[in-house]
Amino acid sequence: MEINNIWDSFLKKMNNNLAPMLYEAWFADTKLISLHENKATVLVPMLIHKKHLKENYNTLIESIFNEVTGSNFIFDYLTEEEINKLKDEQIEIIEEDSPKSFASNLNPKYLFENFVVGESNRFAKTTAIAVAEKPGIMYNPLFIYSNSGLGKTHLMHAIGNYIVSNSNKKVLYVTSEQFVNDFIELYRKNKNDNNLNEVENFKRKYRDIDVLMIDDIQYLEVANKTQQEFFNTFNELHTNNKQIIISSDRSPDDLKQLEDRLRTRFTWGLMVDIMPPDFDLRLSIIEKKIEGNGLTNNFPQEVKEYIASNCIGDIRKLEGAITRVVAYAAMMSGSDITLSLTVEALKDYFGKCVTAKNNIEHVQQLVANLYNITVEDLKGKRRVTNIAVPRQIAMYICRTVYNEPFAKIGSMFGGKDHTTVIHSVDKISKELKNNLNLDKEITKIIRDLK
Ligand code: ADP
Ligand code: MG
Repeated sequence: MEINNIWDSFLKKMNNNLAPMLYEAWFADTKLISLHENKATVLVPMLIHKKHLKENYNTLIESIFNEVTGSNFIFDYLTEEEINKLKDEQIEIIEEDSPKSFASNLNPKYLFENFVVGESNRFAKTTAIAVAEKPGIMYNPLFIYSNSGLGKTHLMHAIGNYIVSNSNKKVLYVTSEQFVNDFIELYRKNKNDNNLNEVENFKRKYRDIDVLMIDDIQYLEVANKTQQEFFNTFNELHTNNKQIIISSDRSPDDLKQLEDRLRTRFTWGLMVDIMPPDFDLRLSIIEKKIEGNGLTNNFPQEVKEYIASNCIGDIRKLEGAITRVVAYAAMMSGSDITLSLTVEALKDYFGKCVTAKNNIEHVQQLVANLYNITVEDLKGKRRVTNIAVPRQIAMYICRTVYNEPFAKIGSMFGGKDHTTVIHSVDKISKELKNNLNLDKEITKIIRDLK
């Protein structure tokens, strides 16, 4: 996507998220001027925009931008004047020819310390720490794969940050797109003036290092020439016991367009996958995140559980949900964060983040279909018999068949109190003793579920 289009999509989303007055004041006159590595630079009209966006909107900006691009960027806001000044300075630096600090492209935000572990990612984190402690020795290459939004990029940066703070090793993090771009650029320049210097620069960037991390290797599938160059780079680093870390949205076996010899090499070291987080992990991540933002006291337990129950499958979306709730509360002139505010703030959001079905949703869908009502009816408050009874049956099944916690069931039925769930389950249990038809119906539902 072109940079202007990216920004247009971003602004559209921002516009939907903010009161018109706020959008006009802070966003209407901004422009994205560069995307480089993981840094996004935005042109703003005045210094006050810079300060205000940084202090009040940064998290929201990052998260919405992430929805548009699928990657994490750190934002820098500059006024026209600052840009001109920077340009002058940069020219001076080039003339001095002394860029001493090596650009690792690491995001200091992503650390092992703030990577929360659960069953689904324990192995990945442990191996990542092992590699960080002994790069080039333990597992080479380390190949991390998972669906999007489950922490691959976070883990890679954490490894890099750890190595940089505990050794003098040179670490380079790039996305595979960056690698392809560098290579294409080299190829283009080379064709024009056969500039050997450029080749040297490229080689130095990618080979004169101790740790190379390539994120989202799947994008290399479409770049045949670059695969060859990556193959050479890989071999040279590997032979010299330099650590290589690769992430992908698929296992090497499923990277079908990649040359076989590359795929084989990816399996030489260790492959680890990250699975979607379970309820407990989602809850812990929410807790960590709000603790990091100093918001622990503002978030009632039922709100956390509501978010954890409804936002499944993707941690990026989970973070987005928190940001949205906070922004929504702020917009309602600093209201307390309550369950009803949360339900309202997230009412259009969850549909987008349901990527995997869990037991409760599965039950809801089946029961809704069977009784000719909608899942929304089940989650709603209407007490007419043709809705209230199926709702109680669905809750009963979630509890007795899947042993789901009362609070979680309540959350996923539109944010109801756990006592409501207990009451429903009791009611159906009692009724079952005398009502043979009901018993038959429920037995059939359970059979269909399985
Ligand atoms: P991927 O690269 O797999 O698409 P990311 O590493 O970009 O996913 O993770 C998406 C977001 O979720 C990031 O903001 C990251 O910090 C957060 N995240 C992922 N896993 C965890 C975790 N276990 N603990 C805390 N935050 C996490
Ligand atoms: Mg990533």
